Amino acid sequence: MKQPENAGSAATFSLDDSPIARELADLTARRRSLDAVSVQLSGRTRVITVSNQKGGVGKTTTTVNIAASLASVGARVLVIDLDPQGNASTALGVPHTADIPSIYDVLIDDFPLADIIQTSPESPNLLCAPSTIHLAGAEIELVSQVAREHRLRTALDEYLANVTEQLDFVLIDCPPSLGLLTINAFAAAHELLIPIQCEYYALEGLSQLLGTVRMIQKHLNPQLRLSTILLTMYDGRTRLAQQVAEEVRQHFPNEVLPTVIPRSVRVSEAPSFGQTVIAYDGHSAGAVAYREAAVEIIRRDSPDATAKDPGNASAPGDEGDS
Ligand code: ATP
Ligand code: MG
Repeated sequence: MKQPENAGSAATFSLDDSPIARELADLTARRRSLDAVSVQLSGRTRVITVSNQKGGVGKTTTTVNIAASLASVGARVLVIDLDPQGNASTALGVPHTADIPSIYDVLIDDFPLADIIQTSPESPNLLCAPSTIHLAGAEIELVSQVAREHRLRTALDEYLANVTEQLDFVLIDCPPSLGLLTINAFAAAHELLIPIQCEYYALEGLSQLLGTVRMIQKHLNPQLRLSTILLTMYDGRTRLAQQVAEEVRQHFPNEVLPTVIPRSVRVSEAPSFGQTVIAYDGHSAGAVAYREAAVEIIRRDSPDATAKDPGNASAPGDEGDS
């Protein structure tokens, strides 16, 4: 039977107007502008510690993916895995079984950092000081060490002074605690990057973290600045994620990066292949967001120009936590 000419027209819609099509077009445009981006590295080594004592907020994911993104635009980057879980070493494809010399040997047995550093198979620009299970005992063993808060800083200073090819960035992945390992990272770093998960309770514990940073500035490392906050695991479909993002931006207008990292399956799959998402699926939304965040970090080169003294920063709804 012959169909009337306008049959089905009421149901006709343009695929180009669907939310998915718009999202894809947006992603393609962002990828293109990233491919065309040119960045100027500062010529000095920026040491950034990625910390938040809250567990599972995206510290390791941020460390390895920002590191890989920085390496992909020509920066030379060292990741120091300061978490006994060794997740950053895994994600960078670097062996870290118990028999491998690791950051534990540097902190406890005075090994030179140069002796334990490995190159990630992902890029010759991407180095990793791995962690092994031995590091789990280091919190306790460090207590009796001389200059226990400065062990990492001393090792890093010595390494940077003698390295043949200068590093542009050192990123330190911290464990989810404010113990001696994290304090070693704070004492060694110029900048603090806090990943904040866009979930309920996101800001809980932040005032305790900022209080610790103030103590470190006062007693151990006056150079340390909260330079960057990165919103992670953002799900734009939920009102909650939008509210959390708004609230964090209100309190830290200068520190929060414009780019937010979306919740993405590709990001969470990548480590099981011993890869960052940049290598695993560089075209995915998570990879594009991390590459954008890395460019923003390079461009906000002067932490002093943008950072607010954590002494003036307070975390909302968190007063009773310090
Ligand atoms: P810990 O405190 O245990 O060290 P962490 O703060 O380092 O945790 P991650 O290990 O980076 O957090 O992330 C926690 C979990 O969330 C991991 O399973 C990771 O794969 C997943 N994850 C992180 N970021 C994303 C994302 N953008 N999309 C989806 N999953 C993510
Ligand atoms: Mg981690």
